Amino acid sequence: MELLNIKKLDIEKKKVFIRCDFNVPMDEFGNISDDRRIRSALATINYCLDEDCSVILASHLGRPKGEMDAKYSLAPVARRLHHLLKREVVLAEDVIGDDAKEKTSKMKCCDIVLLENLRFEEGETKNDKELARKLADMADVYINDAFGVSHRAHASVEGITHFFDAEHKAAGFLLEKEIKFFGKLINNPVRPFAAIVGGSKVSGKLEALINLLPKVDKIFIGGGMAFTFLKQMGYDIGASLVEDDLLGDAQHIMNEAKKLGVKFYLPVDVIAADKFSEDAVSKIVTAQEIPEGWMGLDIGPATVRLYREALADVQTILWNGPMGVYEMEKFARGSSKIAHFVADSYATTVVGGGDTADLVQRIGLDEEMSFISTGGGASLELLEGKVLPGVASLVVTEE
Ligand code: AMP
Repeated sequence: MELLNIKKLDIEKKKVFIRCDFNVPMDEFGNISDDRRIRSALATINYCLDEDCSVILASHLGRPKGEMDAKYSLAPVARRLHHLLKREVVLAEDVIGDDAKEKTSKMKCCDIVLLENLRFEEGETKNDKELARKLADMADVYINDAFGVSHRAHASVEGITHFFDAEHKAAGFLLEKEIKFFGKLINNPVRPFAAIVGGSKVSGKLEALINLLPKVDKIFIGGGMAFTFLKQMGYDIGASLVEDDLLGDAQHIMNEAKKLGVKFYLPVDVIAADKFSEDAVSKIVTAQEIPEGWMGLDIGPATVRLYREALADVQTILWNGPMGVYEMEKFARGSSKIAHFVADSYATTVVGGGDTADLVQRIGLDEEMSFISTGGGASLELLEGKVLPGVASLVVTEE
C-alpha cells in the first residue's frame, strides 16, 4: 500500500492544513506530561515551513462534549509548539468560527495558526460533511499526520479528504512512518517474531490476536486477558477479570495456535490480591490455584523468568498491552521486568502505543525501543488487518 506522499506535492507558498494528533496527557495543573506526540509532528510542520507555506494546525484534545470547554483548550499545546518550533504560534479562539476564519484568512508565508480543539464542534466525531467542507475551505492542501486518530472516521480525518484531489492531499511523515513500519512488521518480520499481548480484556484484542496468529512464531499473554484463557484451561482463577462469553473464542485461539505451530504462552503464576487496590494484601500463587475471592493483578516471577527464556532467541518483538495493573506500583513489577528485558534485547522492538507506550515511558525506557507507535487504537486496527478510514483516501490508486 503506497500513500500519497507530501514530497510529491507542489506545496510551495501554499496554505496547508495539517491534521495532527496533539492529544497529549496532562497533569492536574494542566501541564503537558508527555509531549512525544507534539514532537512527532515537527518533521511535517518544519517541511511545510521550509516550503514557505502558511500552516494551519488542527487537533483534538480529550473528550469535550461538542462544545467549548476551557479545560480542553489547546492553549498549552500552542505554548509547547511555540517553544519547540521557536516561532510564533497563533491560537484561534474557535474551530470554524469568526476568529478562526479571520486568523486563517490573513495568513502570510510561514505563519502558523492552531485551531481550537476540533471536538469543540460536535460535527467532528460525527464526520459531519458541512464541518469537513468548512475546514477544507480554509486551505489549499490537506495533510494528515494524525496516526493516533486515523482509525476514526471523523470530519477532520476522513470527511475532509473528499474535498481535495490527489494533487492536494497526502500523508505526513509521521503517518507514513507508522503505516510503513506496521506493514513491514506484519508482512515481512525478521524471525522468530513474537507478540506480547496484554491489557484488560480479550474482547479488545480478539481480532488482533486472530490476525496475528498466522504471522507470528510465539505469543505471550499477560494482563487481565490471560484469565479467560486460564479459565478455559480449567484453572481456578478466583475473582480475576474474566469474559465468560469469550471462553469459546479463547479455545479457538489456542486451537489455531496449535494448528499453526505457534508457541502460545500463558502465565504460570500471578500476583494475587484480596481486592483491586494499592493497599490490598497480595501473594504469589500459581495460575492453577488462585484462591477463591482473590484476583490476579500481575504476572508472577516464574512467568517473568519463563517469558524471558522463551524471548531470548526472538528477532522481532511486538508488544501491546501491560502485563498487570501497572498503574498501581504493587502490580507493576511484571510489566516493568518485561519492559527491561525487551529494551535490553537485540531484537527489533515495537511498542504498540496507548498504555504500553505510557508504561515504557514511565520507566524511562522509551529511547531503548526500536519504535514506539503514537497510536494505541490505530496500531491495533492495523494489526487486525484493517485499512484505517483516515488512510483509505490517501492511498495511491492505479490509474
Ligand atoms: P487495555 O486498554 O485493554 O490495553 O488494558 C490496559 C489496562 O489493563 C490497564 O489499565 C491495566 O491496569 C489493566 N490490567 C492489566 N492487567 C490487569 C489485570 N490482571 N486485571 C485487571 N486489569 C488489568
